[in-house]
Amino acid sequence: MHVTFIDTGIPELGKLQQVAEGIFWLRMPLPFDLDHINLYLLEDNHNGQQGYAVIDTGIGTSRSEALWDTLLDTLDKPITKVIVTHLHPDHIGMAGYLVERFRVPLFMSQAEYFTARALSAGARGASDWQDDEYLVRCGMSKDYVENASKNRKNSKGVGQVIRPIPLQFYRLQQGDKLTIGKHDWQVYIGRGHSPEHVCLFNADTNILISGDHVLPGISPNIGVYSTEPDANSLQLYLDTLPQFTQLPADCLVLPSHKRPFHGLHTRVQELISHHHQHLDNLRAFCVQGKTIEQCLPVLFKRKLSDQNMFFAIAEAFSHLNYLYFSGGASREINSDGHFVFKTSE
Ligand SMILES: [Zn+2]
Repeated sequence: MHVTFIDTGIPELGKLQQVAEGIFWLRMPLPFDLDHINLYLLEDNHNGQQGYAVIDTGIGTSRSEALWDTLLDTLDKPITKVIVTHLHPDHIGMAGYLVERFRVPLFMSQAEYFTARALSAGARGASDWQDDEYLVRCGMSKDYVENASKNRKNSKGVGQVIRPIPLQFYRLQQGDKLTIGKHDWQVYIGRGHSPEHVCLFNADTNILISGDHVLPGISPNIGVYSTEPDANSLQLYLDTLPQFTQLPADCLVLPSHKRPFHGLHTRVQELISHHHQHLDNLRAFCVQGKTIEQCLPVLFKRKLSDQNMFFAIAEAFSHLNYLYFSGGASREINSDGHFVFKTSE
């Protein structure tokens, strides 16, 4: 039984809209350039209790809380489970609120759960000297590094927009089956955007809940950050994307941003080619040796805002580390402390 996609356009913020039998789409606002996240509520029967399993929860702001409260006041059934695809605050932010309010289990992968607890307890990055060193290695100017350091001291970190994370979780692993209502959902793990991102596929209805791992229209951020400067995130991402071409080409994909879509195989191929195109361009650009900062225009044609710069540097770093670790580039530290990546012709 394959479900029919009920396409009635984008739902109003905080309002449920059915997308398939037993599946409801909920949009919540985000205070970023990407101004929304899609959450999904699935009809569930958990230990005899009828209700809804929630997939992802919105960022932990008072605005999200108000929208949740309004919705929950009129919802016909309670929340039975909270499932979080990955640790980013727009996904995990309100998980603690929902788990405590309904006293229900939280389902996550282990790496996402413990990383979320670690990150929400402190600031976003590593220690001050490590954060500074990371930016220097990226080739950022002295002024930029000093300014970033000042901003970091004034910021309370990512914990600000994550409600206290529940102290208990149920672990999801690759190949697990998670029963929600009448259906068994198969767990697929994606890496690179976050450590152990959960995607869920249901064969009966032919639906993939892809989180941020496969997005339409935008490429998920694949970054190297100060907490793990030798990460090879792009390799991890490219290693865990092709598995989705094993799923039916005509499945309905429910992503965390933009709109539900068909064409999973095409989208996976586009994402793979997008990164290979970037790698090819960087290979050609770095023949004379370039810093990460100098490579930004190769990857980003638009002018970068301060908010975007943090992610842009990380994205460029992940592509250059990929070239370095696959033997396609050397990586040396110059007299300014910047990494210089050099490819051979
Ligand atoms: Zn994310």
